[in-house]
Amino acid sequence: MIDVQLYRYHPEQARQPWMQSLSLPEEFRARMVLDALEFLHEADPTLVYRRSCREGVCGSDGMNINGKNRLSCITSVAEALDKTSTLIIRPLPGMPVIRDLVVDQSLFFRQYQSIKPWLINQEPAPAIERLQSPEERSRLDGLYECILCACCSSQCPSWWWNPQKYVGPAGLLQAWRFIIDSRDQATVERLEQLEDPFSLFRCRSIGNCSWVCPKGLNPMWAIGNIRRELLKKST
Ligand code: SF4
Ligand code: SF4
Repeated sequence: MIDVQLYRYHPEQARQPWMQSLSLPEEFRARMVLDALEFLHEADPTLVYRRSCREGVCGSDGMNINGKNRLSCITSVAEALDKTSTLIIRPLPGMPVIRDLVVDQSLFFRQYQSIKPWLINQEPAPAIERLQSPEERSRLDGLYECILCACCSSQCPSWWWNPQKYVGPAGLLQAWRFIIDSRDQATVERLEQLEDPFSLFRCRSIGNCSWVCPKGLNPMWAIGNIRRELLKKST
């Protein structure tokens, strides 16, 4: 059997969360953590977690598995265990827990909204689309694939300390995605909005964000690019 430690929190029953000791049949080693959660949920339907596509696309099942934020649907139990013997599942850190593995992501999405994640272009829209050259389009690679799972921001110490003021790696990756979009006309305003001691400059280049991103994106690199643009602007 595989030992499991599972974070539980039911505020109407107990003021404090607790770790529940459970076990899984050996065969789950080759299956995904989400399969393990569904097996445990069948035994105890009060267990709550988010999930949707189970293909690593919707981004709803981000959670902390053996110390690292990951998507449970694309993380195998064997991979999570690595050389350890206990599967430890907790909610995403740094966010208020609503119940069991479900966290309140309101602040995460407010920070995302703050960078205006849409094209700003006052020119009348062409009949079909705003064209880009293949080279202009390729600059968005490694950015548009973000699924907003929050694994990066929730593993970022700078975001834990200042979630109200620091945009966090997910929002900043998207800020860079719009700053370099050839169709966007608000580059100067976007940069000015981030030019304060907290919004961007609280990043300490620790790199947790890039370490955990389940889509292989590199928010630390995107943040570095914005930082360089801001420094260029001020010299
Ligand atoms: S590199 Fe910056 S954004 Fe990424 S985890 Fe570290 S402090 Fe947070
Ligand atoms: S950058 Fe990666 S870890 Fe962060 S929200 Fe997007 S997909 Fe998730």
